[in-house]
Formats: sequence, structure tokens, C-alpha cells
Amino acid sequence: MGKIIAVANQKGGVGKTTSAINLAASLAALEYRTLLVDADPQANATSGIGFDPKDIENSIYECMVDGVKTEDIIMSSPIDFLDLIPSHIDLVGAEVEMINLPNREDKMKQVLVPLKEKYDFIIIDCSPSLGLITVNSLTAADSVIIPVQCEYFALEGLGKLLNTIKIIQSRLNPDLEIEGLLLTMYDVRLRLSNQVVEEVKMHFQQMVFDTIIPRNVKLSESPSFGVPAILHDAESKGAISYLNLAREIVEKNGVAVAQ
Ligand code: ADP
Ligand code: MG
Repeated sequence: MGKIIAVANQKGGVGKTTSAINLAASLAALEYRTLLVDADPQANATSGIGFDPKDIENSIYECMVDGVKTEDIIMSSPIDFLDLIPSHIDLVGAEVEMINLPNREDKMKQVLVPLKEKYDFIIIDCSPSLGLITVNSLTAADSVIIPVQCEYFALEGLGKLLNTIKIIQSRLNPDLEIEGLLLTMYDVRLRLSNQVVEEVKMHFQQMVFDTIIPRNVKLSESPSFGVPAILHDAESKGAISYLNLAREIVEKNGVAVAQ
């Protein structure tokens, strides 16, 4: 049975999409069958692995609300072992339309749980909000990765996110775990970066992944080539760090590392 991992933080620009794409690609590189689910109307994960969101007709939303079958929208990516459920801008309207549906928090779970037979890992790239689609993602997920940018105000908003996770655990998804806090955009030369690492580790201790993602230009430029960093420059520090994260997650979950 596969594991569903949501990458969430209501703060924008902390590295959710970069982490979702590159973790998914790294798990695929380790030959785990991986599905990347783009749950953000901005569709950055969709374009980041080479699809034009303008060409996308159906997204996770059509599966959640209109009963479109996942087989009809799952796209195979240019990377072996990696498939995508894409997003498009209409996902913005989804929140509003879903408000009146019964079990409105449960829709994504109904769509994704049957796919756990087909995939080892399902990675959801959440939008920068704690709205209904993100609540759906956290209700569907077995665990959540929280990217934390090594910047000023790194911890800002984390309390609210952890509180939302607690509410979801108590009302909707008692099995939801925190897979880990992921420090991103770390710059070894900056005192601030080091202070953030220390502060986050002090507060959250063993909840923080050992792997720290450095600030790396290959990570920021690879989306413009429509590929994950591992295809853009496999030797880059960015690509290697996400491969290390994938290994850390695989080991933590007691799945044998394939390579
Ligand atoms: P989010 O999805 O949380 O909004 P993104 O993953 O889109 O965040 O990252 C925000 C911006 O920072 C993007 O331009 C992205 O390319 C860049 N970025 C993310 N992680 C890194 C990194 N480790 N090194 C350099 N740039 C990064
Ligand atoms: Mg994003």
C-alpha cells in the first residue's frame, strides 16, 4: 500500500512546489512508483514537470466534484515511475462550489485512496492557503511535510498550520502524522540561515528532517526547463539534497531503498 504525503504551508514561497516536484522525481529515480498531485490553482507543479496548464482540461477538482475518473486524467511524465494529476486555474472556483457538498472535506480522499494500490508514494503539492482544497489534501494524507524557509519570520504562521493539523487530526483524519519539517533555501554563508536552523531544531527537535535543502540556482531555474533538478543537473547540490530527502523518507518508513 502506498503512502500519501501532502506538502503544505499556507505561507507562499517557502519551497512547497520545489519540494513536491523534486521529492517526487527523486522517489521515482529510486524506482518507487510515484504520483505527483498538483492541488494548487497556480499549477506550478504541472508546468514544472513540463506540461502547459493551458492545455489541461481536467484536474483533481473534476475528479473530486464531477466524478471524472482518475484514469482519464493521470498523465505519465517524461520521467520513468512518475505520473501527474495536473492542475489548472479553475481550481480557484472549486472551493466555492464545494462548500455545499456533503462530505466536502473528504472528496480528495475518495479520489486518492484507491490509487494507493498503484503507487508507492503519492505527493500532494498544496496551495498557499488553509482553504477547503488544502483541508481535503490533509484529510486524504497519511502524513505532511512542512517546508520552512531559512529566512526572516521562518516560524511565522507555523503555529496556525500546526493548529489546523491538530483540528484535522481530531475531526477528520486521526491518522495524519507529521512526516517532518523541511528546512529549505539554506545558505551556509548567512548567519541568519544558521540561526533559523538552530531555532527550528530547538523548537521541533526530532520533527525536523536531517536533510536540509540548500539555496541552489539549479532548483530555481529547472522549472523554466520544465524538468525536475535531477534531470536538469543531477550533480547539483539541489538535486542531490532532494535525493537524500527521498532516501531519508524511504528509510524512516521502513521501505527498502531500491538503489
Ligand atoms: P511555494 O510552492 O511554497 O510557493 P516554491 O517552491 O514555488 O514555493 O518556491 C518559491 C521560489 O523560490 C521559486 O521561485 C523557487 O524556484 C525558489 N526556490 C525554492 N526552493 C529553492 C532553493 N532551494 N534554492 C533556490 N531557489 C529556490
Ligand atoms: Mg507552490
